Amino acid sequence: MRQADYIVVGAGSTGCVAARRLAERGFSVCLIEAGSLTAGDAPAVRRPALYPRLFHSPLDGGLATIPQSALAGRRLHQPRGRGFGGSTLMNAMIWLPPRRADLARLYHQGGKAWQPEAVQAAMAEVTAWVRPEAPRWISPLVQACIGALQAAELQVQPYQRMNHDGVRRTAGDLLHQSAAAFRVQPVTGFVDRLEIDGNQVTGVRLCGDGRSGPVVWARQAVILTAGALHTPAILIRSGIGPQQVFDALEVSEIRNCPAVGQNLQDHLVIPLIYAAPDYQPFNLPNQVPQIARWQHLHSGPVCCNLAEAGGFLDVDEPGTASCYPLQWFLTPTHYLRYPHPTAEGSLTVGIVLSHPTSRGQLTVAPCSDRTGTQTLLDPRYLSTADDLARSLAAVSHGRKLAAILASSRIIGREQSPGLARSSTTALQRYVQRYAQTLYHPVGSCAWGNSANSVLTPQLTLRELEGCHIWDASILPFAPAANPNALLMAIAYLFASRI
Ligand SMILES: Cc1cc2nc3c(=O)[nH]c(=O)nc-3n(C[C@H](O)[C@H](O)[C@H](O)COP(=O)(O)OP(=O)(O)OC[C@H]3O[C@@H](n4cnc5c(N)ncnc54)[C@H](O)[C@@H]3O)c2cc1C
Repeated sequence: MRQADYIVVGAGSTGCVAARRLAERGFSVCLIEAGSLTAGDAPAVRRPALYPRLFHSPLDGGLATIPQSALAGRRLHQPRGRGFGGSTLMNAMIWLPPRRADLARLYHQGGKAWQPEAVQAAMAEVTAWVRPEAPRWISPLVQACIGALQAAELQVQPYQRMNHDGVRRTAGDLLHQSAAAFRVQPVTGFVDRLEIDGNQVTGVRLCGDGRSGPVVWARQAVILTAGALHTPAILIRSGIGPQQVFDALEVSEIRNCPAVGQNLQDHLVIPLIYAAPDYQPFNLPNQVPQIARWQHLHSGPVCCNLAEAGGFLDVDEPGTASCYPLQWFLTPTHYLRYPHPTAEGSLTVGIVLSHPTSRGQLTVAPCSDRTGTQTLLDPRYLSTADDLARSLAAVSHGRKLAAILASSRIIGREQSPGLARSSTTALQRYVQRYAQTLYHPVGSCAWGNSANSVLTPQLTLRELEGCHIWDASILPFAPAANPNALLMAIAYLFASRI
């Protein structure tokens, strides 16, 4: 019989930080991961520029959305790392601290548990673990863009990376590098559901044959860190979720918690693509000389994280005194084609709806052959008038950035959407057909002050004793910056307090 002080479910960004912090505090931890414990050994994981190659691979535990009506009925693939390291096995490695306004908003909504100083102190601790580095190499095209934008007095920064000497560093590495790692027992297994005794969570049940997989017992508590797409599904399979979901599922004991799986949010990016005929195309750097340069000199295009540099625009909300942020980034690729090769150089200016107002949901339903369950993902992208309006504003702001680059003769023709698309209807159609996920789903088990929220602001499950959630599902709103650094800091903070 396996047992530990704490069970942590999911060895991704937050799970590895939580396990390490708990272990450093002297607790024994059983860290259960659905994917391979040696996933980080795959060469494509370590070579930064190759991460899109990992989408749809065995290391991808992601899901496709259901058809999105505001995106021309498209189903977007939402990749998620599966294996020790979670999504840090295949993310773009950008290490960006949260914006002050988002920390203030968390504090305003959550009070004492979310004091900005406490989050920042935790941020400093995980940053010391990660030791993010400045890019070892930046493409000549993006370097030229940075120069031109700086000359125009725009705030632009080459993004810091969660790398070491140009090699991807995963969340799993952060755990391995700790002297306390011996207190963490990693286990491969897919957690089907929580084990519940009365009102107390006592452990988790893994998938086995049918429903009778082995149980791992927690002496103190179970911490869910399976991510925004998987944690709500574990709760629902455990009988905690919206009542109507259970009409179709065989779950014996049900606790009605309508908020589980709701409030799902994601960053949507609109790619504006330009010809850059004076620059070599950035094609998948997977040739022997490129790999050798990366191995021996820790430099060259293999180090490239694609979204090399960027910044924020704070845009006035028409008719109000407030503004909303749009993150933008520059990549030396044709965003819609990479990793497929292109004949000429391209630059993509990606403009992101950083504070989306659309809210989606995630639910669980029986598989069509009734052998198990499936997760249905519906982010409802662009389902609000505000997001639609902002997406058009985003195109126009992206074009202003591009105009600076064009006047410096760095880029040429706008390939997509193309200047022929200038009417509101044409641009709206472009957004519907080509906007993509930026891979930042959050919010599907959000904390809040109301009794209806899934979690208290202390990240404790309201329905039961002995269960906490510390992953991307907990955020009540999408932070404007890339979320990984903030999420790791949150896991550190709450693992320090429990
Ligand atoms: C392609 C891509 C690019 C990105 N780029 C960036 C970036 O540059 N910067 C940034 O800040 N953020 C980026 N992100 C987002 C960031 O990586 C995620 O927000 C963050 O990793 C989420 O952490 P998490 O711990 O919530 O989940 P994850 O890191 O996804 O970890 C969840 C873990 O739980 C495991 N799991 C799931 N279900 C079960 C189960 N039932 N039983 C056992 N284990 C389970 C999974 O296998 C996985 O290992 C990117 C993400 C992707 C996919």
